[in-house]
Amino acid sequence: MQQLLQTIMSDDAEPDDFANVEIPEHYRGVGVLADETEMFVGVASEERSPAKSLHLQSVATPQPGPGEVLVAVMASSINYNTVWSALFEPRPTFKFLARYAREMPEAAHHDQPFHVVGSDLSGVVLRTGPGVRGFQPGSRVVAHCLSVELSSSDGHNDTMLDSDQRIWGYETNYGGLAELALVKANQLMPKPDHLSWEEAAASQLVNSTAYRQLVSRNGADMKQGDLVLIWGAAGGLGSYATQLVLNGGGIPVCVVSSPGKAELVRSMGAELVIDRSAEGYRFWKDPDTPDPSEWRRFGSQIRELTGGEDPDIVFEHPGRETFGASVYVARRGGTIVTCASTSGYEHTFDNRYLWMHLKRIVGTHFANYREAWEANRLIRRGMVHPTLSRVFPLAEAGLAAEAVYRNTHSGKVGVLGLAPREGLGVRDHALRERVLPQLNRFRE
Ligand code: NDP
Repeated sequence: MQQLLQTIMSDDAEPDDFANVEIPEHYRGVGVLADETEMFVGVASEERSPAKSLHLQSVATPQPGPGEVLVAVMASSINYNTVWSALFEPRPTFKFLARYAREMPEAAHHDQPFHVVGSDLSGVVLRTGPGVRGFQPGSRVVAHCLSVELSSSDGHNDTMLDSDQRIWGYETNYGGLAELALVKANQLMPKPDHLSWEEAAASQLVNSTAYRQLVSRNGADMKQGDLVLIWGAAGGLGSYATQLVLNGGGIPVCVVSSPGKAELVRSMGAELVIDRSAEGYRFWKDPDTPDPSEWRRFGSQIRELTGGEDPDIVFEHPGRETFGASVYVARRGGTIVTCASTSGYEHTFDNRYLWMHLKRIVGTHFANYREAWEANRLIRRGMVHPTLSRVFPLAEAGLAAEAVYRNTHSGKVGVLGLAPREGLGVRDHALRERVLPQLNRFRE
């Protein structure tokens, strides 16, 4: 691994140097184990601990198959899907790996008694499988997490609709929380040159998701002046949603849960902010009974902030706890666009507010190839910025996931792979200088 790292760190290494570098037979990766999937049976969700189920393991280096690429991972970041994998909720991810191998014999190597997780990376291409063009050993890359086969016509207009659509590092093996990772070549995109490895690895999953959810015609198709209610506006998805709304001439109404997070979103340029903890919103009287009076109180506070207007778009992901309120507060003809259900996937809402007021609920999930590329372009041009707050070493990835699960973080939590320390990998110093305050905004 040392020779490999030296080649990556040297400024004058050529593609041939990378093509000839020796690839270690084993590498370190963070993941869950098939024989531990029962470890939390009978344990309530909130008492389950990602730090207990995520292990740093030695993994045999896989060979890239057709269309696949082996990448030296310099850094990665924690996404909430790693939390789900680590909790074995809603189901152990080994079921996804087994199905992948069953349905696609060429993917049999993904079905293992371990699952190396992680759906973001920045790094350097080491080996390319048959048929890979456009990237070569030595290419500095980030990877988005959309893995598709495109062998049926379903996804030919919108790659997210492919019947074999999977999220790399969650529904496939050899994810990014590791020293090496296996991805499909079409997941690769150029690394933003003004960012360090850990900054570059922070954004792809959440930024692409927020981009489709808000900006794309496949999502809410936001336009100038739209009022957008953003749940968790200082979290992973929300910190990018806030930037996208401001960039697109929209007006974010940011919901957060602490004065510190309120300050963060204000520093991004948001003027309308609700601290849900300070306001003490309780949208449920008890686990089975929603409280519409709280929806109304929330709607009134939004109107107070906006001068009497209701949100054109509600950016949803907390799910069960907030969904009834989200449907209620959206304006007539407005859109509730949802990509997740962190607090529970069985939602309750009063349908009268939906149909009588001609609102729409739009389901959305990650982003298609093109959307992911466009979202990365915004990062590369310094128009959207990573919201990295903390960075952990690979051996502490479990603690990093724990912080995200406990909601003690803000923005994105990074994890170093092969990068020996933070701050490496920058090539465009001029652009970096120009956007430095934005890059450091979330840093603790
Ligand atoms: P984070 O934990 O980084 O941020 C979520 C934010 O939501 C928190 O900062 C918190 O903000 C807020 N929040 C959490 N629980 C509640 C609640 N009960 N009520 C109101 N607000 C709440 O996670 P991400 O943003 O990265 O991901 C959020 C969800 O989206 C996860 O479930 C994840 O799996 C999913 N997701 C889905 C994707 C897809 O493609 N379908 C892609 C990316 C994420 P605060 O406490 O400040 O209010």
